[in-house]
Amino acid sequence: MADLKDRVEGLRKAFEAEALKVGDAKSLEELRTAFLGRKKGHVTLLFEDLKTVPAEGKREAGRLINELKESVTVRLDAIEGQLSLAWPSVSGTSAEAKLDLTLPGRKKYVGAAHPLVLFQQEIENVFLGMGFTIEEGPEIETDYYNFEALNFPPHHPARDSWDTLYIKDDLLLRTHTSPVQIRVMEKKKPPIRIIIPGRVFRRETPDPTHLPMFMQIEGLVVDEGATFAHLKGTLEYFIRALFGEKIKVRFRPSFFPFTEPSAEVDIECIVCGGQDKSCRVCSGTGWKEILGSGMVDPQVLKNVNIDPEKYSGWAFGLGIDRTAMFAYGITEMRHFYENDLRFIRQFGAK
Ligand SMILES: [Zn+2]
Repeated sequence: MADLKDRVEGLRKAFEAEALKVGDAKSLEELRTAFLGRKKGHVTLLFEDLKTVPAEGKREAGRLINELKESVTVRLDAIEGQLSLAWPSVSGTSAEAKLDLTLPGRKKYVGAAHPLVLFQQEIENVFLGMGFTIEEGPEIETDYYNFEALNFPPHHPARDSWDTLYIKDDLLLRTHTSPVQIRVMEKKKPPIRIIIPGRVFRRETPDPTHLPMFMQIEGLVVDEGATFAHLKGTLEYFIRALFGEKIKVRFRPSFFPFTEPSAEVDIECIVCGGQDKSCRVCSGTGWKEILGSGMVDPQVLKNVNIDPEKYSGWAFGLGIDRTAMFAYGITEMRHFYENDLRFIRQFGAK
């Protein structure tokens, strides 16, 4: 047994010494045959000798020989890999060593931005051009930032309309990007002019227009004398930049806990132009809601120690996925997340 152990160790050393000398495919094959050859390979012969080892030592001896065989095989394969990576020698004698300059080049695939990212950038660029800056915040939020600071007191019925995914009692996946408004207003003093893009989460059963995760972008302006007229003018400018000069826009009174007054913004249906009573995009109304907006509720400003007597603010938000669906005439939101290249490549990715 001790004798066999020494022989295994001796062979390992001899193999390592030989392996260092291998410089081409031919010497590699010679080394492989010398150690693993089916009839006279050194390692192969060890397996023959195993038959003479007494029964009680067979198991251990077999393990040692197998280990040696495994390490020799791995090392030989590694050398083979290195040789194939090496630049072929032009002066080499074997046919495959010659560099064939007539072979076609290998195509390199270049990645591209995802359609939702492209659309998000399009929206961001409009607002960056008007002097807004981009802010981001955590996707896991506390109840305070997601609800309470935004004027949703505990047990307020408005919380029910947000199907929230809770992690623990006080921790949740943010249901909107609005908590970032609070985080920014806590740190910065007016004037504030920001947009906040990001992922948001709701407990939704996936269907063509709902997913448990989607993208939102919202904006916030806080300044002395900020009015609803500024909100209206800015959003009309934004919508025309995105959908063209001639698009019709209307503001409709609405309710959100954190804005007062609040308005939803509709644009004319670009699918049917209001001409099709059976249009599935606008349900035959000719209008499509794309934005929620309003004047920041004075209580929200108080929550972050901004004096509502001196400052006023306005905010808006829209779904990036939903607006992209409308803009591109896509009827299935899940297409954005399935990463089917046939879909993605239609948006500029090559
Ligand atoms: Zn329509």
